[in-house]
Amino acid sequence: MVKKIMKYVSTRDNFKEYTFKEVFIKGLADDGGLYVPKSLKKYNISELSAFKDLSYNELSTEIISQFSSDFISKDELSSLISKSYSTFRDKEVIKISNLGRQKLLELFHGPTLAFKDIAMQFIGNLYEYYLSKNNKKINIVVATSGDTGAAAIDSIKGKYNLNIFVLHPNNRISSVQRKLMTTVEEKNVFNIAIDGNFDDCQNIVKSMFSDLEFSKSINMSGVNSINWARIIAQTVYYFYSYFRIGKENISFSVPTGNFGDVFAGYIAKRMGLPIDKLIVATNENDILHRAISKGDYVSKKVKETYSPSMDIQLASNFERLIYYINNSDSKITKNIMKKIKQNIYQIDKLNLDTIKKDFLSESCNEKETLEIIKNNYEENNIILDPHTAVGVGAAKKLLLNDCVVLSTAHPCKFPNAINSAIDKHEKLPEALQHILNKEENFQVLKNNAEEIKKFIKSKV
Ligand SMILES: *Cc1c(COP(=O)(O)O)cnc(C)c1O
Repeated sequence: MVKKIMKYVSTRDNFKEYTFKEVFIKGLADDGGLYVPKSLKKYNISELSAFKDLSYNELSTEIISQFSSDFISKDELSSLISKSYSTFRDKEVIKISNLGRQKLLELFHGPTLAFKDIAMQFIGNLYEYYLSKNNKKINIVVATSGDTGAAAIDSIKGKYNLNIFVLHPNNRISSVQRKLMTTVEEKNVFNIAIDGNFDDCQNIVKSMFSDLEFSKSINMSGVNSINWARIIAQTVYYFYSYFRIGKENISFSVPTGNFGDVFAGYIAKRMGLPIDKLIVATNENDILHRAISKGDYVSKKVKETYSPSMDIQLASNFERLIYYINNSDSKITKNIMKKIKQNIYQIDKLNLDTIKKDFLSESCNEKETLEIIKNNYEENNIILDPHTAVGVGAAKKLLLNDCVVLSTAHPCKFPNAINSAIDKHEKLPEALQHILNKEENFQVLKNNAEEIKKFIKSKV
């Protein structure tokens, strides 16, 4: 049987086709758009029920292989996935627990204690697989609001023919987040602290990618949340939780920053998974809540909050949603992206009605976030990390009391927030205690793309 190979296009030009291999290695299309599949496989209920009893790894293999068959065979993919998740503290990769009537989808049992590990461990091994067949050296450059960087470093450290450069906003991530990155000793890991916020870091990385002379000269590759391989690895846990919970039309509440995780849920829904609503839960950086509730997609200054991984104003993956709600029209998408760049985009009524069929949104401020942590500790004896708390709070405000909340990080990663909410100290898991007293290694650089390029050139 000849298997159909999935073709990809860019959100800004859906005429030209790409393969998964190009999509994975390049991350961002040359026209500045994001890659999306030309068409998605849609499962019907009986096809879905065949997946019901699969383990997490088996389910990952089934779903991801739909997208990647031009690049890796199903057998090789299966062993790559087993290897990727062998580093997790929980054998089934994720865990589902109860929080009153809500469920928590615990996604933080990987090596760096946040959900980013699930996609990133997979991606690190995909690079290794690619390089085993291509004699090249690749330099990965990535911006992080705190968790992506640690997860990316853990997945790339020590790997042959790969370097990784991570840009984080100086003094704007938690010390545990920073130490998970800066105490790594492998020689192919470089940490750069930028005098600026996460959006500044992300903009520098974007400008390096669009400087084709530079990016080609170092064979630059990206693992930011726009990388399609990350999105598909994240769709898997929506499927998995649907089978484990065994209920039709569940809603998910998703703490959101770059619109990656919640977009993965949207893709799962488009693939036929019977999801009711996806709740976009934001902290005080609430552009996505304003956008989805009233069409206002104008960005404001980034605020620092207790949930730093969501301190983002420009949600890169939102471009993919814009593309889909405009019936895969890349011309319209391109025009809207121009307006977003000028910071004047308002979502029109037709588009907004389409968005509201699948999404709800809410935002929690700092005080509410701490109250949610405190109340859940007192009532349920569960300590939520501040990002998860935003997800729990958003669902509560929307009166969706029996939805599934994505629990995106281990609370020990954010001791300041936890200490401000309750009088308790969440310890790091034993295996990670050593980072607390280890020497840190990072370079502080100005918020200036040319300077960062020079630094990277001197290291590759
Ligand atoms: C990255 C992150 C988020 C936001 O996820 P997006 O995919 O960027 O929307 C939420 N919580 C935690 C702990 C994170 O690390």
